[in-house]
Amino acid sequence: MKVHVIGGGLAGSEACWQVVRRGIPVILHEMRPKKLTPAHETGNLAELVCSNSLKSMADDSAPGELKREMLSLDSLVVKAALEAKVPAGQALAVNREIFSEAISRELNKSGLFTRVDEEVIAIPTEAELQARDEIWIIATGPLTAESLAAGIQELAGGSKRLYFYDAIAPVIDADSINMEKGFIADRWQKGEDGGDYLNLPLNEAEYYAFIDAVNTAEKMPLHDFEDVKYFEGCLPIEVMIERGRETLRFGPMKPVGLTDPRTGRWPYANLQLRMENKEASMFSMVGFQTKMKWPEQARVFKLIPGLETAEYHRFGSVHRNTYIKSPDTLNADLSFKSNPRVFLAGQITGVEGYTESAAIGLIAGRNAVAALQEKRQTFDERIGLSNPPPDTMLGALVNYVTVGPLGEYSPMNANFGLLPTVAKVRGKGKKDRQAEKVSKAWQSFSAWLSANNIS
Ligand SMILES: Cc1cc2nc3c(=O)[nH]c(=O)nc-3n(C[C@H](O)[C@H](O)[C@H](O)COP(=O)(O)OP(=O)(O)OC[C@H]3O[C@@H](n4cnc5c(N)ncnc54)[C@H](O)[C@@H]3O)c2cc1C
Repeated sequence: MKVHVIGGGLAGSEACWQVVRRGIPVILHEMRPKKLTPAHETGNLAELVCSNSLKSMADDSAPGELKREMLSLDSLVVKAALEAKVPAGQALAVNREIFSEAISRELNKSGLFTRVDEEVIAIPTEAELQARDEIWIIATGPLTAESLAAGIQELAGGSKRLYFYDAIAPVIDADSINMEKGFIADRWQKGEDGGDYLNLPLNEAEYYAFIDAVNTAEKMPLHDFEDVKYFEGCLPIEVMIERGRETLRFGPMKPVGLTDPRTGRWPYANLQLRMENKEASMFSMVGFQTKMKWPEQARVFKLIPGLETAEYHRFGSVHRNTYIKSPDTLNADLSFKSNPRVFLAGQITGVEGYTESAAIGLIAGRNAVAALQEKRQTFDERIGLSNPPPDTMLGALVNYVTVGPLGEYSPMNANFGLLPTVAKVRGKGKKDRQAEKVSKAWQSFSAWLSANNIS
């Protein structure tokens, strides 16, 4: 009975730890340093390819809550980050060498960890894995090597379920939108119940002021390896504007079929916001993928009436990123529907960020062990013990990956919008509601731990 983990990044290292700490041997296959990805520079485990920050540690923040829950499940990545911590206010920033060394040291100390420096190019079939009594966890990240990516694509059921680029539109906190400036309607009144979209109309002057601001805003430079060939269907708004100042009015800001009840007419231009969850606590900006720098997005989008005080759960971005449409492809335990002996972990499942990737590695590791050990339990019983409830931060992230949002699936980070909404109470502001969300998440997490005797 063996577990093989492919990829020794954030997710793979965490998954290895979750396996060995339960007394099961693990074999890690990592292609570095023999073959580097375009972003990695060393052969170190859990190399941080860019910033050295694992985001906030604050107890009342979403990333802080994620780390607190992970730590309760003995996360090696969070423990190593705390050991390698450097001063950075409320952020958990690390010395990257000490961080990687701590991870290797603990894995090696377990006596159950073997590292093989090799590129994996193919995935065994379910029958082969069964015969060898093996489970595989694939955690090869946003820059998965080409031949394995082809194997993952096949397991996922084809090219429609594996993406090589993120073209992400911003997601806004519903409470921060001035709803009075908008109206609810579907184009040509096609939806039920008056409509599913929140529309923010712009007059002529507002539209051109917005276009000019996008044109002059600072954009993110692409990395050398990011020779992006955009799909026509999801061009960044600034690329559309380069084709002409009217392009957005005929694209994502098209007003046709959208009658503003206050004027009885179609507006000059219109931005549609779509619900990201059924609680309507988050809205995404439809067709608004962009590579403007994040502070520039916050500044420029203020020019759209209704978004003057908008707060963002996620900004737009465009970058190289291999990820699959997990909700259609994976079971609730993160194994492939088409081969339940192969689990997927990390950024490739559709999460974004170092800690989030490690979090999905943690859950995949727990589930892989459960699949090997708990043969007498039903699938649902196993999930209930391996995945925290969906009203916790960690559980909400896994739930996003396996169940998905209402709209299009695109990579997600840990944020308040994933947690259940809390009632608005007079005299209590947004910060109070966020603190309440985190406190409820932690209560639920603690209750889950003690009810199931989980360690
Ligand atoms: C350029 C860039 C900058 C980023 N900056 C940030 C940032 O500042 N902050 C942040 O939070 N997130 C950032 N990210 C996202 C970050 O990569 C992920 O959050 C995180 O590293 C993903 O963890 P992972 O374990 O899924 O993948 P990785 O950490 O990338 O690990 C995957 C591992 O798999 C190995 N591998 C790939 N294919 C094979 C194969 N066929 N066989 C064997 N091994 C293989 C790779 O060598 C790698 O070690 C950035 C991503 C990129 C690409």
